Amino acid sequence: MKDKKINTSEIPPEQLSLSSKFKFDCHKGVKCFTDCCRGIDIMLTPYDILTMRNKLEISSEEFLAEFTTPQLLEKADLPVVMLKLLDDKRKSCPFVDDKEGCAIYSDRPTTCRYYPLGVGSLSYSGESGEKDEFFFTVKESHCKGFDENREWTVAEWREDQGVDLRDQVNDGWMELIVRKKSLPESMKLSQESKTMFFLVCYNIDKFREFVFNSTFLERYNFSDEIIATIKEDDIKLLQFGFDWLKASFFQTGKEEFKVK
Ligand code: SF4
Ligand code: SF4
Repeated sequence: MKDKKINTSEIPPEQLSLSSKFKFDCHKGVKCFTDCCRGIDIMLTPYDILTMRNKLEISSEEFLAEFTTPQLLEKADLPVVMLKLLDDKRKSCPFVDDKEGCAIYSDRPTTCRYYPLGVGSLSYSGESGEKDEFFFTVKESHCKGFDENREWTVAEWREDQGVDLRDQVNDGWMELIVRKKSLPESMKLSQESKTMFFLVCYNIDKFREFVFNSTFLERYNFSDEIIATIKEDDIKLLQFGFDWLKASFFQTGKEEFKVK
């Protein structure tokens, strides 16, 4: 399984829409069971980190230190985090069990849910939130799932795997990356901006500390309702962070993110 977010210079030959059909199934009976959980590149999304750290009952800081490797996303020039593999012969995912499969199945990353589908963005319209997305199948020789007879539409697969909700939560993060990628190379973000991007997107517990234990809230006119919501809900805090980054990076977005 490879990272499925591609850039527009790597558009695959067959683009699928939500109603396109494909045949695939994956279960404990396939010969290749868990083969795709070794030697892989999995980019973690902000929501992946949030749910995986909950599942493992550790902080986002501990999760990052133990299970991830930072990387710089070329072209967008923004930091991302990759799942760190074990140092065994097959470079296994730390959560795979030969017999039982994924030990964190209900909280597995978005990339694992999409597989064997990939998704690409041709554009992101910004303020209207409209995306020009397409899908494609990732056919790897070791994967026997395509020999199975179960038929899906892309929309059915997405719903079954729970990627709709994940994409919805991660939307602001994806928009930041796509918009940054489309800027001319000369428009660089400062190191401080990249550090803030990392903090908001991947280290939610530290971002919470930053918001509530610094002078941050004094610099803006956020309503009591917003403050109460982000205080009790990690997902809302994450999406608030995306909006704040969008306003800082591109000087667009919601009025309340203007500094007093
Ligand atoms: S997180 Fe689970 S599904 Fe994803 S690679 Fe690891 S074991 Fe496989
Ligand atoms: S069928 Fe494909 S997705 Fe399922 S275990 Fe085998 S390689 Fe992985």
